[in-house]
Amino acid sequence: MDTTRRGFLTTAVGAAAGAATGPAQAAEAGHDHQDAPSDMTLRVKSLESLLVEKGLVDPAALDALVDTFEHKVGPRNGARVVAKAWTDPAYKRRLLADADTAIAELGYTGQQGEHMVVLENTPSVHHMVVCTLCSCYPWPTLGLPPVWYKSAPYRSRAVIDPRGVLQEFGVQIPGDVEVRVWDSTAEVRYLVLPERPAGTEGMSEEALAALVSRDAMIGVGKVTLARVNP
Ligand code: FE
Repeated sequence: MDTTRRGFLTTAVGAAAGAATGPAQAAEAGHDHQDAPSDMTLRVKSLESLLVEKGLVDPAALDALVDTFEHKVGPRNGARVVAKAWTDPAYKRRLLADADTAIAELGYTGQQGEHMVVLENTPSVHHMVVCTLCSCYPWPTLGLPPVWYKSAPYRSRAVIDPRGVLQEFGVQIPGDVEVRVWDSTAEVRYLVLPERPAGTEGMSEEALAALVSRDAMIGVGKVTLARVNP
């Protein structure tokens, strides 16, 4: 995690780190004695056993879900959408007109990916996405949301002081550039199409995709030739 992201980020990360600290983590940190799993791990295991025992969930279905979110969805999918839009003007038009269909062309569909809207950043407008109510997020293109996206401080401050929040992410938006904040809901989820950086003419779609960070697609980062954000 970038240490320059102060305030809500340190709070959110601190809370997450605190929640993750337990005997298992202590063992990983160098203690050579054997410890019981953390409370959270035990709770998850107990809940899973109970659901399986009562026939409410199929363990194979659970494995498939975990595999999907560990290996198949994530921000690399969104980055491919962005790189294609940068290199294929017809695709970009389709993406901005009907995001669901254009994203599905690349095979990225599924739960939490319905009713997508793609927002194009330009030299005069910068888009930024939040879910003020909870953590609505486009799973097929971006994977699961980062901890800070779900934190109450991000959700409130993104709408109260978007420029201040962007600064904490290291993003300076000039005063003459409009900042638009979009509130995700269960009905609509957003993907930001960042500006293609100068100096990338002639780069392959694959090389371009490697430059696109998750944060840039949420609108709290910019794409640069030297990628710095996750
Ligand atoms: Fe939500």
